Amino acid sequence: MPAKTNTKTILITGASSGIGQAIAIAFGQQGANVVINYYKDEDGANHTLQQVVEGGGRGLIHQADVGKEDEVEALFKKAISEFGSLDVLINNAGIQRDSAFSEMTLEQWDSVISTNLTGQFLCAREAIKHFRSKEHPGDHTGAIGNIIFISSVHDIIPWAGHVNYASAKGGILMLMKSLALEVAPQKIRVNGISPGAIATDINDEVWKDEQKKAELLKLIPYGRIGQPEDVGKLAVWLASDESDYITGTTIYIDGGMTLYPGFIDNG
Ligand code: NAD
Repeated sequence: MPAKTNTKTILITGASSGIGQAIAIAFGQQGANVVINYYKDEDGANHTLQQVVEGGGRGLIHQADVGKEDEVEALFKKAISEFGSLDVLINNAGIQRDSAFSEMTLEQWDSVISTNLTGQFLCAREAIKHFRSKEHPGDHTGAIGNIIFISSVHDIIPWAGHVNYASAKGGILMLMKSLALEVAPQKIRVNGISPGAIATDINDEVWKDEQKKAELLKLIPYGRIGQPEDVGKLAVWLASDESDYITGTTIYIDGGMTLYPGFIDNG
């Protein structure tokens, strides 16, 4: 078992699969206390917990729908009572409900906005309330709290057939920046990670199909689909004091997807 180097407490939403699970495991390997929120997949959450513990961390599983205010409040209460405090929120839970715009139902619109945008607001608000209750550390001692919004390249790349998703992710961009500005004087850091194509359940119908995968790779100059572990490593760094002077920024982790790949041969 690796030596414990990081005794911070991290809460990760939607940590029963994909990117959230990989982030949880990466923090576990640092020896962190990891609060694993899940929605429906309890087996996935148990797998995450097992990996966190095997990596040298401690863990707690808690079910909650991030779009429900009372469930989010209960999630944070449980996390703080279990570990005494909270240092980092990874706002990760997200869904897709794809449809051509003219056929998009209000339910498809509302469910994506509720989970992907309102859910991130509710969780960030609980985290900020807790961070603000901590003692201000003064200068040069690191942040008292850290929030990372898991957004998407579709916070800046328009996406036909996914208007609800792109609208939520675009909203996260200004939620993140405005909040970062508001709480920087309290020594709270707020940043975004915007992944490109990462192989998870959310897009498995694309990367498991050879033809669709080949089409997708045309959009990725670096020539490979990302893995959840790529995002895990970045999240650990962005939540650490190594990145202490970074706030209000989005890091695009996308193999160059945001570089206008259509212009690779001069357009
Ligand atoms: P995923 O489907 O494996 O993970 C999404 C997680 O969110 C799941 O664990 C799911 O149970 C959870 N979730 C869904 N609704 C919830 C709710 N109401 N309350 C709590 N949890 C809920 O897919 P992923 O790719 O790991 O997605 C994680 C995040 O990364 C999402 O915000 C997604 O938009 C974003 N993202 C993914 C990619 C990609 O290519 N995979 C690219 C850009 C952004």
